[in-house]
Amino acid sequence: MLVHICCSVDSHFFLEKLQKDFPQEKLTGFFYDPNIHPYSEYKLRLLDVERSCKKLGIELIEGEYDYESWLKAVRGLEKEPEKGARCEVCFDKRFLTSAQKALELGEDKITTTLLVSPLKSQEQLKHVGDDFHAKHGVEFIAVDYRSGGGTQDQSRVTKEEQLYRQDYCGCIYGLTMQREQQERLMDEMFSPISGQTLPASIEERLQLYTSRNELEDEGKAYRIVRQKFLNYRQFNVKLISGKKEIVDAHALSYSTLPRKRAQGRIEFAIEDVHYFNREEIKFITLQYFNDFFNTQYQSVRELIFNPPDVKKELQLREHICGFSYDLSPIIVVQHIPDTKLTLHIDAKLYEDTREKLIVL
Ligand code: SF4
Repeated sequence: MLVHICCSVDSHFFLEKLQKDFPQEKLTGFFYDPNIHPYSEYKLRLLDVERSCKKLGIELIEGEYDYESWLKAVRGLEKEPEKGARCEVCFDKRFLTSAQKALELGEDKITTTLLVSPLKSQEQLKHVGDDFHAKHGVEFIAVDYRSGGGTQDQSRVTKEEQLYRQDYCGCIYGLTMQREQQERLMDEMFSPISGQTLPASIEERLQLYTSRNELEDEGKAYRIVRQKFLNYRQFNVKLISGKKEIVDAHALSYSTLPRKRAQGRIEFAIEDVHYFNREEIKFITLQYFNDFFNTQYQSVRELIFNPPDVKKELQLREHICGFSYDLSPIIVVQHIPDTKLTLHIDAKLYEDTREKLIVL
């Protein structure tokens, strides 16, 4: 039996139940979810499904990430709410491609973890599945693992197995609407030119869950806990000397300017930290930065495109300001300008939650 899989939270529980209910069947997982955006989130969900299938001894096949074809399929339905017409098309596309795969592999049965999704009508899936059966002879197994306490069991399994729990369905349209309703920044879409792995980003989670899998391979005990913290995203930074000369400048993480713009001059320096006369802004040279980190950056531009990670930047912030939750703008420049300066920083601070991996 080929089992189309959407995510580990739905699949782990579903596959365990199938193994019990169909002991004679050889189950093969098929991860086909081109709806998931961005691609890093797709990789993260796949990583967790791979781990889950490995634990259950089930072979997994990855389908094509044909995102453009998914976009084409839902064209015109972008503004549909969740559970609306776009979701119907999305579910049917994933199911029908999986059914085709079953046919190609010579399987005679197919099912999908979408059956445990509260967003999908089981009748609708059954209708599409039975139609495919009539045309191609691949039987659709429409199990109901939701009712009779199934949903509670699923959530227990999710916790016990420490599965990756995504907090949006998958596509860019659903995510956009969800974040607008929550009045939350859509930080999943950030891909900084610095290449830094940002706090609580999908990339950070990918690293965490990869480390988790390595710990499991080594037989080490661990726990994933969640923690609340103040997150930060930087949209842009611009430093202008005099009337219009742009100066290359790198603002350390957690540099904030509430009114986004400050104008003034550097007034004095203490131990090579240069103090601006507005908004607690501090300037340091690239030399200062290189000395602190023992790095060899030749230019601020090089630093902008390849800075050290956020944790390290926070160490420098703590060194300069005395404590790590200081929010003053700290700006790295090649040389300290002696002209009038205008600094623009567009950045956002917000409450957020992140996972932490604790080795026991
Ligand atoms: S909200 Fe979910 S089911 Fe609906 S179209 Fe987006 S990814 Fe597919």
